[in-house]
Formats: sequence, C-alpha cells, structure tokens
Amino acid sequence: MLFDSHAHYDDEKFDADRYEVIEKLHNEGVGYVVNAASNLPSAIDCITLAQRYDFVYAAIGIHPQDVSNINENTLATVSDFAGHERVVAIGEIGLDYYYENSPRDVQQYWFSRQISMARDLKLPVVIHDRDAHEDTLKIIKQEKAGETGGVLHCFSGSVEMALELIENNFYISFGGTVTFKNARKSIEVVKAIPEDRLLLETDSPYLAPEPFRGKRNYSGYLKYIAQKVADIKGVSYERIAQITTENAKKLFGISS
Ligand SMILES: [Zn+2]
Repeated sequence: MLFDSHAHYDDEKFDADRYEVIEKLHNEGVGYVVNAASNLPSAIDCITLAQRYDFVYAAIGIHPQDVSNINENTLATVSDFAGHERVVAIGEIGLDYYYENSPRDVQQYWFSRQISMARDLKLPVVIHDRDAHEDTLKIIKQEKAGETGGVLHCFSGSVEMALELIENNFYISFGGTVTFKNARKSIEVVKAIPEDRLLLETDSPYLAPEPFRGKRNYSGYLKYIAQKVADIKGVSYERIAQITTENAKKLFGISS
C-alpha cells in the first residue's frame, strides 16, 4: 500500500470526476492520501473530503500564494478547524519566491505565524518552498518547527539542505519531478538521505510523473514515483512502499 502524502483533490481540475477518481485509488495500490489546503474555502473542502473517505486526511493552512489578504481572524479560524478529528497537519504553508503573489516579508510573517500556531496545536507542518530555500530553512529554525516536525513537500533543495532539515526533525517528500529528465539534483538527495526520512507524494493534479508528464496527475501515478525512488535507492519497490507508508503514518499520527 502506498501513501500519497500530498494531493489536492479539492482542485477544480477534479470537479467533473472527483469521487470516481478517489474511489478507484484502493484498486491502484494507494491506501492513504493527505489532501492539502491552500486557503480557508479549500480547508473546508479538504475536511469534507476527509469526512467522506476514511483513507483521506486533511492538512489545513494558508498557502504563500494566498496570504496577501489574510489576518489574525483567518488564522483563528484555521486553528478552530484544526481541532477536527480528520485534520492531521497544518499546511500547506511556506514561501514562494517564484510566483511572489504576495510580498516576501508578508509571506515570511504568515509562514512564521502558522508554524507557531502548529506548535501550539501540536500538529506537524507541511511546507511549500519554491525558490526560497535559505529563508525557508531560516524560519523553520527560528520558529523551532522541529518541535512538532513536518515535511518539506516536492523537495527541490540541495543535499546539504535536506540533511539540515532532517536534523530538525523533518521528512523530505518527493513527487513526479524525481522522474523527469533533469532530475539530477533530486536523485542525489534521494541517494543521500536515510530511508526513514523519505515520503512520497503526487501533488495531484500537478506534476504528473513520466511517462504522463503534462497530464492531470492523480494518486494512481504514485507507483511510478515509488519505482523511481526504489531504483535510485537500489532496493525493492515493496521496500520503498512499506517504509514511506510507515514514515507518513508516523508523521501524521495515523495508527490504522
Ligand atoms: Zn501542493
């Protein structure tokens, strides 16, 4: 059984066939999905989906692309929602200097605030970092995110950064990009980090792995990512499936 540690089934790209897609995942070897929110409406959708399916869990938080108009009331609402039994993490939160929809200092402020909220709630964090490696690591350390731990999703940093994150009680998650032709850097990181810190994800509907690159992604494609990671590590597919599922269950506090 595979664990898709990061997906977005609330995305409008699934509006036409959302339930059909989710309901066939068990037959495709996927036993667990964490659906990550990007703002308040999406947090509600994530919790609703997680209530409908016992193998879908919710991560709720405000994505760096959605922080420009939020305030303390927004955060108080996220914090209230986080008490819901299907919520297993705060996310996705972080920094995006590629799109930079909000000024960097605004992104940094709400990233820090949401980490401290997660610590108060004793929930792990799901972190998005695009072109912001240095500041992401700095804020993780400043805010002592390691106290509750978390995952750096769709990791695109260096080996050094990955090892430093692991020292700070973080997991490193890989998705479709590890199967792309230009994946040299990700492959180095997969090789370098211990398998008990490794997670798999699809980030559906984005970033479909080869040979489906460019298509709408879904958790059924996770097996291609698992196979690639197994090949890089030089271990069996079954071993990677088992350890990454165990790791995700430990991080998100899922016992069943
Ligand atoms: Zn995402």
